[in-house]
Amino acid sequence: MVKEIQKIMEDFHVKDANMTADERNIVTLSGVCDSWQTLIDVGHAVAKVDGVKNVVSDMEVEGLTIPKKNYEPYIKKGKEIGVIDRADVVIIGAGVSGCGIARELSRYNLKIIVVEMGDDVAYAASKANNGDIHAGHAAKSGTLKAKLNVEGNRMYTQWSEELGFRLERCGSLQMVTEDRLVPSVEKTYETALKNGVDGARMVTQEEAIQIEPRVEAELKRMGKELKAALWLPSMGVVEPYEVVVALAENAAKNGVQFLFDCTVGDVLHEDGQVKGVVTEKGIIEADFVINCAGVYADEMSWMAGDRSYTIHPRKGTIAIIDKTCPPLFSVLGGITTHEPTMKKNVESKGGGMCFTPEHNILLGPSATEVPDKEDVDTTPEDLAYAMSRNSNEQIGIGNIIRIFAGTRPADFKEDFIIEMSPITHGFMNVGAIQSPGLASAPAVAKMAIGILLDDMEKNGKRPEEKPDYDPIQPPKLDFRHMTHEEQDALIKKDPRYGKIICRCEQITEGEILDAVHSLVVPTSIDAIKRRTRAGMGRCQGGFCQPRVLELLARELGEDWVNITLKGRGSNVLICPNRENAEEGGSRS
Ligand SMILES: Cc1cc2nc3c(=O)[nH]c(=O)nc-3n(C[C@H](O)[C@H](O)[C@H](O)COP(=O)(O)OP(=O)(O)OC[C@H]3O[C@@H](n4cnc5c(N)ncnc54)[C@H](O)[C@@H]3O)c2cc1C
Repeated sequence: MVKEIQKIMEDFHVKDANMTADERNIVTLSGVCDSWQTLIDVGHAVAKVDGVKNVVSDMEVEGLTIPKKNYEPYIKKGKEIGVIDRADVVIIGAGVSGCGIARELSRYNLKIIVVEMGDDVAYAASKANNGDIHAGHAAKSGTLKAKLNVEGNRMYTQWSEELGFRLERCGSLQMVTEDRLVPSVEKTYETALKNGVDGARMVTQEEAIQIEPRVEAELKRMGKELKAALWLPSMGVVEPYEVVVALAENAAKNGVQFLFDCTVGDVLHEDGQVKGVVTEKGIIEADFVINCAGVYADEMSWMAGDRSYTIHPRKGTIAIIDKTCPPLFSVLGGITTHEPTMKKNVESKGGGMCFTPEHNILLGPSATEVPDKEDVDTTPEDLAYAMSRNSNEQIGIGNIIRIFAGTRPADFKEDFIIEMSPITHGFMNVGAIQSPGLASAPAVAKMAIGILLDDMEKNGKRPEEKPDYDPIQPPKLDFRHMTHEEQDALIKKDPRYGKIICRCEQITEGEILDAVHSLVVPTSIDAIKRRTRAGMGRCQGGFCQPRVLELLARELGEDWVNITLKGRGSNVLICPNRENAEEGGSRS
């Protein structure tokens, strides 16, 4: 193993190359690479060597300063404040993994605190993704990802029924019109069979037309015939933030506490046992800490004394198309006539064209390795990639209403890590939850809780189930989809539902107030957007943003200048408008 790794580093011309391996076969690499991509390639190549459990990278890149988060100010603040609470379980990160685990664990008699550095749930990858509930056909067979994807996909029906979020089981039909493209569809089918994807089957052109009648007209228009078609009926779509908000609200209903703007700066541990976390809001003592920190999960694990993997962020950019250009088909997938013009990252599924439950088309995501974990900038290359995935002639760049990026938390093994640390008992990694982390979330939660309960049981501390656990979260009131009669009745009862705040999406003041007064309180404009869709339409908040700001300030009893777009540092107004009137005008 050592020789093979040394040879890899030599082949990639890593300067001052060095490697160490611990008793678990966690390999730590150091040296200087000529580019970021080389560093990534070296990590991947070493991770593939037989016997290597995972790769930690201390490698550097010539001429590049790899951004590093400075936790010192958070530690200093937290230690000054001292102990603020004690919990059975602290969960770091309020994405779909953290909130999923919190909700599932809330059925037990445990004190659970979720700490999140952002101002809201779904602050990172869990808000910036495609919302695909993948069938499980794309994950490499034999990986934990593949297993949990298929299981998680099945479990989504129950999550959606209990938690009241929308799940559209639209299925995916992957069709090709050229002989040379047939092997790739057959390969996907083989993987689907190996992974145990429900209902996966190759279908004829006639069957494809039965599944989606519009295929017939499209083929006629193209003057083509199908050469192969794969039907994956279990594929679905959700609005990812709806899932996370519903999980968090249900968890809160069942007693879970959430602390926002609460960065973890250190993990306390003593004699191989976790003791709690130091956050910028003070120290929370705990018997168990579950690490769901996304791109920062490797750093949390290191703080806990277990340095066993490195997260290398993989950015994905997605373009959202206006609803005036609806999807061609009611199924995902589509008709492919040629190979992709721009290649995606070999390690990532990347993505093409899909749609949301609102039937906005999404183009992308791309898959770009970036050194900065917080790099969510969108570039002209990302836009070009998104447009290269467009197979609908009716759609042009002018139909894009927004382009955004998120970062996948990938490790070098390219698989999920869900395990109790063998170094620091009580610290559990739920790390490297890259795509299909959303689709797998129910199974990720089940597995993590299984490990936790087994451990508690071994120590004679298995918690009781709460008799009053309530798994049901009623669906949110949805004014725009009500009949006129229902709307009239509602407005008579409460006139605030008669005031439209977001014209594009037809969102009322009443719905925004319902969100503000919910259990997991949204305090920023984007947090309101994720709960209500205000600002998600064609004008992207141009009209409603000031109104939402005004409502937030009023309902939270805050000064307008304190209301932010997306948490600290993103204040929308600088000072009250009239403050500078004497000096000749407004600055805000
Ligand atoms: C562009 C893109 C498209 C994708 N498409 C899909 C898809 O269609 N289907 C699918 O299944 N998956 C998809 N994924 C993957 C999916 O989004 C992720 O796997 C999933 O959201 C990971 O959830 P998480 O909760 O583990 O991490 P995150 O959502 O990243 O949450 C981690 C949280 O931890 C917090 N945190 C970090 N450090 C600290 C700290 N020190 N203190 C306190 N809090 C901290 C962060 O603020 C964050 O909120 C996509 C990902 C991307 C980027």
